[in-house]
Amino acid sequence: TISMAVIDKMGHVAVGTSTNGATFKIPGRNTTRSFLLICISTSEILWYCISTSEILWVGDGPIPGSSAYGDDEVGACGATGDGDIMMRFLPCYQVVESMRLGMEPRDAAVDAISRIARKYPDFVGAVFALNKKGVHAGACHGWTFQYSVRNSSMQDVEVITVTP
Ligand code: ASP
Repeated sequence: TISMAVIDKMGHVAVGTSTNGATFKIPGRNTTRSFLLICISTSEILWYCISTSEILWVGDGPIPGSSAYGDDEVGACGATGDGDIMMRFLPCYQVVESMRLGMEPRDAAVDAISRIARKYPDFVGAVFALNKKGVHAGACHGWTFQYSVRNSSMQDVEVITVTP
């Protein structure tokens, strides 16, 4: 999976995610194509599910709020991991809404992962959270997770390692 969030110089937030679900898919889930989700704007979510084959069952990628979510007023979140479990909790929507209510990105990320882990202690997954000020954090469960960051003042990408 590649999940990405961008804040442009006007402060607009955009997120996208792609996945093939190679590791975690349940039987019957579409195996041959990737899906792309794009959420844009404060007031409406535009999303596209692109596939050239019949969709038997989709993963978390095309579900708004599951593996990506963004809101111009708040920030963004991306997720990776066991999508068939994570999509039941909309963790990215949860992260953005928690930040909207005042949580720091780290607390919002940990909270969203904890909500899943309480019900599914064996799940493997992670989220990153990014607020409008550019503050970011990650949280994970069941694995060590890395995400990359770059802003206009950085010469190169910084890779952040997050441990459970
Ligand atoms: N979330 C993805 C899926 O279930 C897998 C991944 O993040 O690697 O398709």
